[in-house]
Amino acid sequence: MDFRLTEEQKMIQETVRAFVKRELMPLEGEVLRNEREGRPGLDRAKLRELQQKARELGFWGINTPEEYGGANLGPIMTAVITIELYRTFVPFTFGGSADNILYSCNEEQKKRYLIPTINGERRSCFALTEPGAGSDVSNLKMRAVKDGHEWVLNGEKIFITNGNEADFAMVFALTDPEKGVREGLTCFLVDREMGWRSSYIPTMGSWGPAALYFENVRVPEENILGGLNQGYQLAMKWIGAGRWHIAARAVGAAERLLEMAIEYSRTRVTFGKPIAERQAIQWMIADSYVEIEAARWLTLFAAWQAEQQMDNRHAASVAKLYGANMANRVVDRVLQIHGGMGYTKELPIERWYREMRVWRIFEGTDEIQRFIIARNLLRGHVKVGETL
Ligand SMILES: Cc1cc2nc3c(=O)[nH]c(=O)nc-3n(C[C@H](O)[C@H](O)[C@H](O)COP(=O)(O)OP(=O)(O)OC[C@H]3O[C@@H](n4cnc5c(N)ncnc54)[C@H](O)[C@@H]3O)c2cc1C
Repeated sequence: MDFRLTEEQKMIQETVRAFVKRELMPLEGEVLRNEREGRPGLDRAKLRELQQKARELGFWGINTPEEYGGANLGPIMTAVITIELYRTFVPFTFGGSADNILYSCNEEQKKRYLIPTINGERRSCFALTEPGAGSDVSNLKMRAVKDGHEWVLNGEKIFITNGNEADFAMVFALTDPEKGVREGLTCFLVDREMGWRSSYIPTMGSWGPAALYFENVRVPEENILGGLNQGYQLAMKWIGAGRWHIAARAVGAAERLLEMAIEYSRTRVTFGKPIAERQAIQWMIADSYVEIEAARWLTLFAAWQAEQQMDNRHAASVAKLYGANMANRVVDRVLQIHGGMGYTKELPIERWYREMRVWRIFEGTDEIQRFIIARNLLRGHVKVGETL
């Protein structure tokens, strides 16, 4: 067993940390101002400019295979890099990547969807959830009915990240309702020009997803992704990858917040002493540190399993459940340590506080992660104390 990063991994980590400090953190004030005035934190031009700078350092397509021009750094490096990136709330992502399921495109689809997405020319969104079906995907109702060489889509999707900005959607619809969701669901690549509409959903966070409406949207049959009735497997693959990424985000953000709390507690004096000298404050700092470390190792373990091409679904659920809750506890303590200032919009703590709440909801709620973990234990798929 070796907990150390290799020299190369450490070098990459340090380069990303320096990039975040030099290029992203100075934009935090501007991002807050933009968001408070109802604009995106970073506009598309600024995002592209930053992505280009990162590209010059070799950060392009972190997970993208080399044949598509990516760096293909693998799951462990992705976790390490995500932790570093989330030390700031500036909504930056490295360029050159695409949703994992778009690699199921056939050759023709690759030209129209995968490659333009990698190149940043087109934007995708993943449209599974419906008003009546979130955790319970077996309740999905959206239908696709064959008519000649086309499929006709009718229904509504809700809470779709990037749904208002995307050029095309990966839409899941029932093609064989008799067989149910596991065997009768298909994923379609649906361009906005094919006729779907979207509307923005304001949330307590600084950004919002969208509702998508399909009324007799005609989709050519060559736009089926990954084969007829193969949608469930694709959906699970997409969601599975996202789970431990959220845990990595949680670690990065909580690290930065804890650093802010340590700094503030050293300088804030009450009753003649810095608050850092009070046990009440020290315990909040210590508990936060312990929980961040626990989440870090759960995250890296899930990433390591993915790197070994092992089934990491259980580890990913554990990391996501713990990481998302840890971050929500840490931000609450850090806000408390900052007193009244923590509650103001002078500081970004309240922004993190609002944003992190959704980590306990999307990509499988807390309750769904607990359900998965308990089911694995009760059915004997995973044994207590037996990690590997
Ligand atoms: C900001 C945001 C972005 C999102 N982005 C996307 C996206 O890009 N694409 C997409 O397809 N979806 C997206 N979602 C949807 C998200 O995945 C769902 O909201 C989530 O899965 C929960 O579904 P629900 O909201 O329908 O809640 P429900 O499933 O109705 O659950 C309501 C409550 O009941 C609990 N519950 C449900 N079933 C059980 C059970 N069996 N036992 C115990 N408790 C249970 C839940 O945990 C929750 O607390 C997004 C959501 C948000 C808020």
